[in-house]
Amino acid sequence: MSAENLVQLLYLVSTALFILSLRWMSDPETARKGVFAGVAAMLLAVIGTLAGVIATGGTHYWWILAAFIAGAAVGYPLAQVPLTAVPQRTALSHAFGGLAAGLVGTAKYFLYFGQGNRDALSTFIVVAIVAEILLGFLTFTGSLMAAGKLQEVKWIPQRPVTYPGQNATNIILLLGAVGLGAALVANPLAAWAPYAFGAIIVISLAFGVLFIIPIGGADMPTVISILNAYAGLSAVAMGFVLNNKLLITAGALDGSSGLILSIIMCKAMNRSFTNVLFGAFGQAPAAAVGGEQKAYKADTTESAAQVMAQANLVVIVPGYGMAVAQAQHKVRELYDHLKKRGVTVKFAIHPVAGRMPGHMNVLLAEAEIPYDDLVEMDGINGDMPQADVALIIGANDVVNPAARFDKSSPIYGMPIIDADRAKTVYAIKRSKNPGFAGIDNELYFLDKTFMLFGDAKAVVGDLAKQLSGEGMH
Ligand code: NAP
Repeated sequence: MSAENLVQLLYLVSTALFILSLRWMSDPETARKGVFAGVAAMLLAVIGTLAGVIATGGTHYWWILAAFIAGAAVGYPLAQVPLTAVPQRTALSHAFGGLAAGLVGTAKYFLYFGQGNRDALSTFIVVAIVAEILLGFLTFTGSLMAAGKLQEVKWIPQRPVTYPGQNATNIILLLGAVGLGAALVANPLAAWAPYAFGAIIVISLAFGVLFIIPIGGADMPTVISILNAYAGLSAVAMGFVLNNKLLITAGALDGSSGLILSIIMCKAMNRSFTNVLFGAFGQAPAAAVGGEQKAYKADTTESAAQVMAQANLVVIVPGYGMAVAQAQHKVRELYDHLKKRGVTVKFAIHPVAGRMPGHMNVLLAEAEIPYDDLVEMDGINGDMPQADVALIIGANDVVNPAARFDKSSPIYGMPIIDADRAKTVYAIKRSKNPGFAGIDNELYFLDKTFMLFGDAKAVVGDLAKQLSGEGMH
């Protein structure tokens, strides 16, 4: 077999593994296998690329080694971040992907320009290079901004920053870059062409920042997913520039899965794509509640444990607070004690609970809670009126009934878990602060609701201890 055929074969197997990886990752039963398939696919891609370099008599091994070391030096610490920081970690990965695509496009252009190589700078290739640098560099700065917002970096405002004519300015900038790109495609070797190229880079970098600043921190996970799609598309363009089929297929998979995920997230929040991108959601600080102050009823873990021990069905609704507190292992203990007492326990999983898709599933799987007891929102809502207890652990927006009836609420229309339909509600959170959308939650003022104030890990641990107590029946 020729070296070229071997490389193409490795790329083919790698592509198949990437597809299987995505398929397997969509089901918790096979997700682990999916991760291994993805890693194997990437390994084969690297081996195939190196084999190609060796077969064509490449001489730049030191550069390749240096790149490996630099990549590992950045990648290793990134892999160590806690689960709650995964959204911003993902954004950083996209930033690097975008930067790599942008730099490769730039290097290729200047290489061919220096050679005066009109054949290499065919219309098709220059179109691909322009798409690559535009998407690559805007993904770079856009993703850095998104990561900064999620990490709550001080000098990046969390709230949307808006000004008159913002959308028009952004569109004019983008059209300017596309116009320069068109001029470059027509005259790739003109004396002014490198300046036009540089201008496209500057505009793309600026556009990435300007695109993100009007979007609030709460929408960053959706935006990251859209940037994922852009990074994928720039990789496709890079694949055409480098004539690398694997980059084209892997980039297309990346681009389409990012887009599909963004659509799923928008649906789960009942928001349109344009509303997320241009709606400046979360702009106004939460309005002070006028009139009389509504009262919370706090309760003790002793009495909550007693009620739960008597229940037939307890539905646990986890949210972002469970992730922050890392309470999943204590939740598992609570689950075990309730099961031992013959109580049926189900977990109600809202698609946007937490800060990233699948956030709750990952945490509960980590605590080895049987997957059969995790029920999606649509599956559990019908059973909520039969639930004796809804135990809310650090969730807020995803159980806010205002989404159902309050047309003025920013979360109006978002599908929610109907915790308010359970017979009794216990809610664990640390304070009276609102959740991500910045709004009060009517659920916490209902007659049937009792607050268990405190850190989720401590409170759930306490509940588990109470339920393990021999004196309690
Ligand atoms: P949430 O509305 O942000 O509420 C989380 C609650 O957890 C807060 O009210 C907070 O109250 C409490 N909390 C925080 N730390 C805690 C701790 N250590 N112990 C106990 N409680 C703690 O969360 P959610 O109900 O999961 O809703 C998710 C929100 O994020 C939605 O608005 C959703 O649209 C948005 N979002 C999610 C995604 C996604 O992919 N998952 C994407 C985009 C947007 P205290 O401060 O009083 O403790």
